[in-house]
Amino acid sequence: MELVINGLSKTYGNGVKALDNVSLTIPTGMFGLLGPNGAGKSTLMRILATLQEADAGTAMLGDINVLKDKEAVRKVLGYLPQEFGVYPRVSAYQMLDHIALLKGVTKGSERKDLVEALLQKVNLWEHRKRRIAGFSGGMKQRFGIAQSLIGEPKLIIVDEPTAGLDPGERNRFYNLLTEIGENVVVILSTHIVQDVQELCKNMAIINKGQLLFAGAPNDALSSIDGKVWEKTIVKEELERYSNTHHVISNKLVAGRPVIHVLADAPPEEGFVKTAPTLEDVFFSTITATTPVLA
Ligand code: ADP
Repeated sequence: MELVINGLSKTYGNGVKALDNVSLTIPTGMFGLLGPNGAGKSTLMRILATLQEADAGTAMLGDINVLKDKEAVRKVLGYLPQEFGVYPRVSAYQMLDHIALLKGVTKGSERKDLVEALLQKVNLWEHRKRRIAGFSGGMKQRFGIAQSLIGEPKLIIVDEPTAGLDPGERNRFYNLLTEIGENVVVILSTHIVQDVQELCKNMAIINKGQLLFAGAPNDALSSIDGKVWEKTIVKEELERYSNTHHVISNKLVAGRPVIHVLADAPPEEGFVKTAPTLEDVFFSTITATTPVLA
């Protein structure tokens, strides 16, 4: 099963064009949707999760018309939103049991088996009697995964899952996502390049509502291979370099700025060619005036 999105557009009442004619085919496995804040990721995720209407376009999940047949989508959808809003003051076990009931697992013994298995899977078994409101960020996200897996979903949407997690929690969350079946379409929406680098077979980059790249991370890397140049500079030179070169990143290393410049030939004295990272792809794509990679 794949998700085929065609010509999707959405303009909000205030005139912001959050999605501008987005067409994208998403196969099974982990798919990274990468874009800076405000790019339109959540808008796209909410439309696919049937929580919001598009103005134009289509989306087909196998033979389900996502924009029209919302009930059918909801039956095969697992959605992990950015924020649940208010976290319930009930235990993880009670909450999962309740959600499973809402999702139609009406038989008590079946629900008990399912809830127990999910709590084990996301490593919350020993915390099952604790209130979710008191969970850490990572535990809340793992609970979110557990609830999204009820009903054996075919499409799982995870919106900005690792923001605010510490490195240990992030790793546990990565491992959990990786275990989710190869036969499911999993869309991971994020502004964190590392999330996509570590997890995703395929990816897309969006910015200002437009699709700038779609393909495998390796293809994205090859597209700028040999064109990324690095130099350690002093802080005062940063403005000059920014004005005269296509600076795609600027990081402090041991207190000094290290810049990456995108250019076909050595930009000037002192630059060394460096292997592109996905972060270079991301920043070179979103800082280009026209889509360079699409
Ligand atoms: P992302 O998830 O990539 O941060 P969003 O989809 O949340 O992006 O937002 C895309 C753009 O749409 C932003 O400019 C945002 O300010 C705007 N936007 C999002 N939701 C609304 C809304 N309900 N009303 C008006 N503008 C919105």
